[in-house]
This record gives sequence, structure tokens and C-alpha cells, in this order.
Amino acid sequence: MSDIEKIKCLIIGSGPAGYTAAIYAARASMAPVLYQGMQPGGQLTTTNEVENFPGYPEGITGPEMMMQLEAQAKRFDADIRSGFITKVDFSSTPHKAWTEDGHEIHSDTIIISTGASAKYLGLESEQHYLKNGGGVSACAVCDGFFYRGQDVVIVGAGDSACEEAGYLANICNKVTMLVRRDEFRASEIMKNRVLENPKIDVRFNTEIDEVLGDGNVVTGVRMINNKTQETEEISSTGVFIAIGHKPNTDIFKDYLELDETGYIKNIPGTSKTNVEGVFVGGDAADHVYRQAITAAGTGCMAALDAERYLAAKEG
Ligand SMILES: Cc1cc2nc3c(=O)[nH]c(=O)nc-3n(C[C@H](O)[C@H](O)[C@H](O)COP(=O)(O)OP(=O)(O)OC[C@H]3O[C@@H](n4cnc5c(N)ncnc54)[C@H](O)[C@@H]3O)c2cc1C
Repeated sequence: MSDIEKIKCLIIGSGPAGYTAAIYAARASMAPVLYQGMQPGGQLTTTNEVENFPGYPEGITGPEMMMQLEAQAKRFDADIRSGFITKVDFSSTPHKAWTEDGHEIHSDTIIISTGASAKYLGLESEQHYLKNGGGVSACAVCDGFFYRGQDVVIVGAGDSACEEAGYLANICNKVTMLVRRDEFRASEIMKNRVLENPKIDVRFNTEIDEVLGDGNVVTGVRMINNKTQETEEISSTGVFIAIGHKPNTDIFKDYLELDETGYIKNIPGTSKTNVEGVFVGGDAADHVYRQAITAAGTGCMAALDAERYLAAKEG
């Protein structure tokens, strides 16, 4: 028993939601312990310019912004640890969690901020221009602005892809939308919006064969019609991949209510889950907005809800 660590607040994940929760929980004297997971700093560490987070008029790189959030949490003595949580047990209180090396933690409150991972096609050329920030992105709202007035390609067939295609059409010169099958997966209304938009050219049965570029930036794509095997090259400066996200919530599925994709269901307007004392912030519960600022906002909500839960319990 002596190896078990007893704490008031465990935060799982180190994206904008986790660090914001840590800032609030630390300043509320909850002595939070935060595990950073496999991607310290979260999804933003994979992007160059962040121009839409308030407070940075000149923009900031994703990694730099996350270092600042970490420093801010540490300033209030949040205990930031490397390592990740491999198992939880929410069947009784205090809730239990285990790290990858078997360390057992009992915590009065748990804040889940494990985020979601964008799905990619898996092409080498896609990964190359994704990692060097050369023109492949999984977030139209985040990066569309960099391609204003230009020609772009978007891949996907669901509601989110249609929404992102419409968003890009408002900013860009032309949007070519590649749909793998001969029909959309999206709802009728979203599909029709795309088909009726004169700036969106939909190509059915079409996939990306290769993202083309000069080594630094994207210059186009080679498309392939999967019925005829015919290929065609078009020029494009941006390639948006909108084929879905996978929330990092597998370890919670035995205890928490998840939707069909795996997003944690929170009680609307709060960060509360179906388990008392377990709260969620950020993209792990958000399939709609998926932005750093909304993740930070819901991370704040999670810390405040956790603090109020503790106060009611102790009071
Ligand atoms: C390429 C790209 C560019 C983007 N650009 C912008 C932008 O310009 N502006 C904007 O507002 N948004 C942008 N976004 C979206 C933004 O990054 C996300 O909305 C935001 O990071 C979500 O924050 P989060 O805290 O919910 O989780 P994430 O940032 O996804 O972080 C999740 C954290 O959980 C940790 N974790 C997961 N599982 C475990 C575990 N078992 N144990 C411990 N830790 C765990 C991970 O290591 C990670 O630290 C971009 C996203 C991408 C992919």
C-alpha cells in the first residue's frame, strides 16, 4: 500500500486543455499532478504558426506556445511529469490510475485531456509536407487562412469534410474535393451545400496518389481514379486531409460513456462525465470545434468543476 500515491487532482494529457486545467487547479491549491503522455504539449507541437490564439498578435509557433503554457502551470507548482497513464479504475472513489511503469495513483478528481489524433492517408509524401509545415494540414479552420486566394485540395467525404470544404471555398480561389467512393458519407444538407458551391470541384472515386512538391512546399497532387486507374496532376499549394479524428479515449471505455466515434460524452454545458469526480476538457470530448482556445476553455471548466466537486465533498 505504501507505494500508492494519494492526490487530489490527476490531469491526464498536456495539450492546451491539460495545461490550462493545471494552471487553474494549481492556483486553487489542488496540487495537481499532470502526466504529459506520448506527445508532451499535444497536437500543437506538430504545427508551425498558430495565428488564432488570442494574446499573440504576431502569431507564435505551436511548440513555443506549449512551452509557455507548461511554464505557466509550473509557476504555480503544478507537478508536471513525463510518462503516461495506461489503465484506470473509476468503479469506486478515490479513482485509480496506473502509469506505464506500474505506479498506482489514487485521486479524488481526474481531469481527462487526452485529445484526439487526426487521421492521415499514410503516404510518405503527405507525411513529409505535413511534418515540415510545407502545405499538408488536417485543420482547415487552423490553416486555411495561409492559402487565401490560392488553389487547394481537400480529401474526405463526411460532414466535417464538407464543412471544411465550404470554409476553404470562402477563403481560397478554388477547392478540389476528392471523394474516395462514388458518393458522400455526409448528410444530405451538407452534401448539397458542397455540390452547389461553384468554387468546389468534387471528384468522385478519386484518391491522392502522391502529394507533389519541391521538397519544401506543396505544388500539387497527382490524383488517381480508383475505377479507371487514370491519373491526373493538378496544381495546388495546400492539401487538407479531412478523413476523421480518433479520440485518445480507449483506456476509459469501460467506465465512461463514449459516442460511436469514441468521444467522451460530457453533461452539456459542463465538463462532467457520467462518473462523479471525473471531468473532461479539450478534443477528447469535442468533435465540433477542435481548437486550442476551446480546449483551453474547457480545460478551465474541468478544473473549476473539479474544485467545486472537492469543495462540496469536503465541505
Ligand atoms: C497540424 C495541426 C495544426 C493545428 N493548428 C491549430 C491552430 O493553428 N489553432 C488552433 O486553435 N488549433 C489548432 N489545431 C488544433 C489543436 O491543436 C487542438 O484543438 C488542441 O491541441 C486540442 O487540445 P487538447 O488539450 O484537447 O489535446 P491535444 O493537444 O490533442 O493533447 C493531448 C495530450 O494528451 C496526451 N495523452 C494522450 N493519451 C494519454 C495518456 N494515456 N496518458 C497521458 N497523456 C496522454 C498527449 O500526450 C497530449 O499531450 C491544430 C491541430 C493540428 C493537428
